[in-house]
Amino acid sequence: MPASSSATRTVVVGSSFAGYTAALELRRLLGEQHEVVVLDPKPYFTFIPSLIWVPFGGREPGDVTFDLAPVYAKHGVRFINEAVTSVDPTAQVVHTSGEQELHYDKLLLATGPRLAFEEIPGLGPEEGYTASVCNLDHALDARNRWEAFLQNPGPVVVGTSQGGSCFGASYEFLLNTRYQLKKHGLLDRAPVTFVSSEPFLGHFGLGGVGGSQEKVEKYFDKLGIRGIANSSIKEVRDGEIELASGEVLPQSFSMIVPPFTGVDAVRGDGPLSNARGFIPVTDEYRHPDLPNVFAAGVGIALAPPEATAVPTGVPKTGYMSEHMAKIAALNIAADIQGGAHKEVSVDELGAICMLDAGNSGIVFKTDRVLSTKDAKAFTWAGPQGHWAKLAFEKYFMASRRRGLVRL
Ligand SMILES: Cc1cc2nc3c(=O)[nH]c(=O)nc-3n(C[C@H](O)[C@H](O)[C@H](O)COP(=O)(O)OP(=O)(O)OC[C@H]3O[C@@H](n4cnc5c(N)ncnc54)[C@H](O)[C@@H]3O)c2cc1C
Repeated sequence: MPASSSATRTVVVGSSFAGYTAALELRRLLGEQHEVVVLDPKPYFTFIPSLIWVPFGGREPGDVTFDLAPVYAKHGVRFINEAVTSVDPTAQVVHTSGEQELHYDKLLLATGPRLAFEEIPGLGPEEGYTASVCNLDHALDARNRWEAFLQNPGPVVVGTSQGGSCFGASYEFLLNTRYQLKKHGLLDRAPVTFVSSEPFLGHFGLGGVGGSQEKVEKYFDKLGIRGIANSSIKEVRDGEIELASGEVLPQSFSMIVPPFTGVDAVRGDGPLSNARGFIPVTDEYRHPDLPNVFAAGVGIALAPPEATAVPTGVPKTGYMSEHMAKIAALNIAADIQGGAHKEVSVDELGAICMLDAGNSGIVFKTDRVLSTKDAKAFTWAGPQGHWAKLAFEKYFMASRRRGLVRL
């Protein structure tokens, strides 16, 4: 691809783990004549991994967010606090919710998932009967539901629905909920059930990691949690969840991770995305048919390593999203200014996950997320796991508030 000596504009859509990292990396890599523009309807960054604590009052919004505009202003990135409503890859323009039309030379889509609650009747906090902790508004709504539950406790159901991929989040929320029930002396009145589309407990959408099935099953037995793997949710009604198997689970409080699709701005019949709205990418995180379009984070298309009876998605963690964003940014800069391109297949991405359990936790590291059978992986369980997550949160918020994404 010929390098451009004249001024260019790179538009980054979405400003979370992937978009924020990419925008600041692009600013660092590109000469001043090249403009970097970021769009996001949210004016703040959210450290999503800490949202699991918001329903229990462990975090307030100010603890887990920071305003984007001042950081971008300081670093010379133009921030537009609007959503992209559609992309025209032929004309190379994006349309925005503020009715702007913005031309791009390079486009990086970092729009994450759309939470497809409507795929399961009665699911979700907006028009249904289950809580969510996938964004700050949902986590605050979950706090209201939790407080109502404490007044009138009963059975609890936590899990990930068919088509969901964020298994770590539902396990983590489950263990924190169990910890809170114990603290409130409610274990006798609030039996806990975990429902999951994973073919077996501890599969995590990856085929399992280092004996994780046996470990999770044993741990559930110890805590008295009933786990139902391979489950599909048919319908949620006030006070109960019906599974495709016909079993009806009573619930007084429930948090279910919904199915994911790509966001509306990139979904549809056009060339941008697949049938579920996820964006295909090469190992440069470039669209295979649209060379000026790149994508990173949860919004990319990624086939599961193995087919599962109930549809599951592959988890794409914050760590992976940032890694993809850095590779995409480097390749955009190489297109614009010349220099070497870089290819890293998703298969080669690693992950560090910290799964909190209230007062203990599990730290898990793998150098290959998609081939966990051949990966160098280790897990580390105990109170240190909880402290590791707290320390990581402090480090992450302190560095990102300053716009430091390379630490
Ligand atoms: C409860 C929970 C706990 C988690 N815990 C962990 C953890 O411990 N460790 C870990 O590594 N990962 C964790 N994850 C996963 C992690 O949050 C995701 O991997 C990460 O958020 C993905 O980043 P992203 O930038 O791809 O997408 P997102 O974080 O989903 O961000 C997408 C951004 O795009 C914006 N956007 C969407 N549509 C548009 C549009 N049309 N125009 C402009 N902007 C748009 C959104 O407003 C948003 O800011 C957790 C997830 C959840 C839900």
